[in-house]
Amino acid sequence: MNIFRSSLLLLLSASLAAQTVTPSARAIHESAIIVDTHADTPQRFLYENFDIGNSDPKDIGHISLDKARAGNLGAEFFSIWADPETTSGHFAKSTFDMIDSVYQQAARHPDRMMMAFSVADIERAHKQKKLAALMGIEGGHSIENDIRLLRDYYRLGVRYMTLSWSNTNEWADSSGDIDDPKIQHHNGLTDFGKQVVLEMNRMGMMVDISHVADKTFFDAIATSRAPVIASHSSARALTSHPRNMTDDMLQAVAKNGGVVQTNFYAAFIDENYRKAAEAQQKEAEAAVEAQVAELKAAGKPVTYLDKDQVEREWAAKIPRPPLKSLIDHIDHIAKVAGVDHVGLGSDFDGVSGALPEGIDSAADLPKITQALLDRGYSEKDIHKILGGNLLRVFGEVERVSRETQAEAARTSTSQ
Ligand SMILES: [Zn+2]
Repeated sequence: MNIFRSSLLLLLSASLAAQTVTPSARAIHESAIIVDTHADTPQRFLYENFDIGNSDPKDIGHISLDKARAGNLGAEFFSIWADPETTSGHFAKSTFDMIDSVYQQAARHPDRMMMAFSVADIERAHKQKKLAALMGIEGGHSIENDIRLLRDYYRLGVRYMTLSWSNTNEWADSSGDIDDPKIQHHNGLTDFGKQVVLEMNRMGMMVDISHVADKTFFDAIATSRAPVIASHSSARALTSHPRNMTDDMLQAVAKNGGVVQTNFYAAFIDENYRKAAEAQQKEAEAAVEAQVAELKAAGKPVTYLDKDQVEREWAAKIPRPPLKSLIDHIDHIAKVAGVDHVGLGSDFDGVSGALPEGIDSAADLPKITQALLDRGYSEKDIHKILGGNLLRVFGEVERVSRETQAEAARTSTSQ
């Protein structure tokens, strides 16, 4: 056998090994409460009439009740995202519609899914073998600069909010436009932005720093009385994207007691993919704009999914990175921040299909457990990564909320 053939065979067996899940990895996976903190499936619920009970094997979505069951996904934080472009002028209404879409799914499938608002709810759902559905708002623009709206969202069950999405809003700078001189920036968080963080702490809504500019991140860490989360962010030392977190930021989250939930998006976890995506970015964006203009000219409504369709075609031009790239990010965050500060924030249904090889939906989550086991992670540490760390942070956020409210009650009665 020549060297070329033998190394090809080695490669083949290595990639096959990555695809199979051994009984011991399966057992570790099945005994965990698995929490994923970011899926954009509500866009499908609302605009595509997608039903989470869908069992069509050809459906390209990443999340369904069948797929969640196959991957032992215990809790999903559904992303409540008002597209700043297509829902401009009515962010709050779009946010409420998106929230409603999650409740509608839970109401249709009470035997397999339940709304969840706390750590205790997630544990209860796990015992009942139901998918716990939680909600996180993506983008502080949803509150329309009104702290009362923020409170309303909490009352409806929203349990985290990213302070910004890719757009800088009136009180928080975003990593998405931080270099754009046409955007008015605030050098991080404004005073109102800091009030938002403290009100989130008081209510028990997790402060999510995914998407924000670096200065906003450090302002949020300095302001928050509770641990913060990054619901879907990866490591910048490995993949040089401004959406990813530097090692300094990872260490600051560790010090703060928070957790970084690793994003699976190909352009955030693989430098080759990121460069290829960057090279075609202008052309791809122009194609999206052309599609939007065409629909508008025809008098048709434009949703995120219309743009996503074009983005998928462009994403498909670049080969998917290996699963190893994703595992490298989890491993890096575990090494820099510590194994108590890393988890999973897939970005399922929000990445135009651009996931690493082997991860086609939530059903493939056991492959991550296998890969971590192969790298020497213990069962205990794997359980932390799969959901334990997020549950610890969520519990801390609940505790800080209870204490803050008790303190406020004491000072108001003593006056
Ligand atoms: Zn996002």
